[in-house]
Amino acid sequence: MRLFTPAILRISANGISNLLDESWMEGHFYFIAEEAAKSNKSVFHKTIREGFLYYLGTEVYNEYLRPHNVIGYGAERSDELYLYLYSGLVELIDFLSYHELETKNLGIRLDRYIEELLEEYDRTGNTKIGTIEYNGNLKKAWMYLLEKNSSSLADLKYEYASRFAERVFHDREMCEYISRQLQFSRYGWGTYGTNHTDEKPAQWIKREKWPKWVERAIQARDRGNCAICEKSIILESGQQNIDHIVSLAQGGTNDLMNLQLTCPECNSEKSSSTKSVESSVPKYLGIDTIRKRS
Ligand SMILES: [Zn+2]
Repeated sequence: MRLFTPAILRISANGISNLLDESWMEGHFYFIAEEAAKSNKSVFHKTIREGFLYYLGTEVYNEYLRPHNVIGYGAERSDELYLYLYSGLVELIDFLSYHELETKNLGIRLDRYIEELLEEYDRTGNTKIGTIEYNGNLKKAWMYLLEKNSSSLADLKYEYASRFAERVFHDREMCEYISRQLQFSRYGWGTYGTNHTDEKPAQWIKREKWPKWVERAIQARDRGNCAICEKSIILESGQQNIDHIVSLAQGGTNDLMNLQLTCPECNSEKSSSTKSVESSVPKYLGIDTIRKRS
C-alpha cells in the first residue's frame, strides 16, 4: 500500500519529539509500555509487527489524526488555534483524498465551509483570523471527517504504525534510548503517580530463543558488523551473537529494539561490563570517511 508522505514524515517527527519530551516520557510513555506488555504474551517481541515500537507508532498515528490540541485549549478565538485547525484540516482532507476516503457530505453548512477553506488556500496560501464560530466549525468539520471514516482510518493505522516502527528500529541509538527509558519507567515509577526510584533494576522477562526473522532483521540493520568493535562478523568469523543492549538482568526486554549484533569476543566481554552504543551512524558513513572522499 502506498502511504501519504506528509503523514509519514509528520508521524515520525512527532513520535521522535514525543520520545524526547519529558512529560510524555513520564506519563504517556509509561501507559503505552504497560499496554504493550499486557497485550502481548511474548512481551515486546516483534517490534515492527506487534512489539513496542508498533504500539508507539499507533499512538502517534492517533495523535496525528485528532485535533488534540483543541481539547482543553482555553481560547476559542485565537490566531494560533485557527492556524492549527486550518492547516491541519487541509492536510487531513489531502490525507483522506489520497486514500480515497470520504471528504464530502459534511452537511450543507460545513460543506460550504470546507470549499471556502480550500478556495482561500488555493488563492492565497494564507489564512485569516478565526472567529469563535469559524474555529468551532473547523473543529466540527474535523471531528465529522474522523467519525465518517473511522473504520477505514483504523485499518490504515497498521500501515502507518509499522512504518514508524521500522523508521525507529533502524536507528540503533534511538533503540537504546527507548530501552533505557523503558527500564527507567519500570523502575522509576512502577505504577504511574507512585515513585519507586529506590527499586533496583532486576530481570522480569525470561530469556527466549530468537526466531530466524529476528536474526535476519538485526543482521540487516547492523550490516553484518559487530555493534561494539565494528568488525565484519560475516567476513571474519561467521560467528555471531544477538546481544541485549540493556541486559535482561538490568530490566531489559526481548523486544527487537533492545537487540544488536555482536561478535563472540565483544559479547563475552559485555556480559561483565555495560558498554553502550555510542552512535547509530555506522562508521563507514561517519564524518572521517566523508571527509576523505571529498
Ligand atoms: Zn566485536
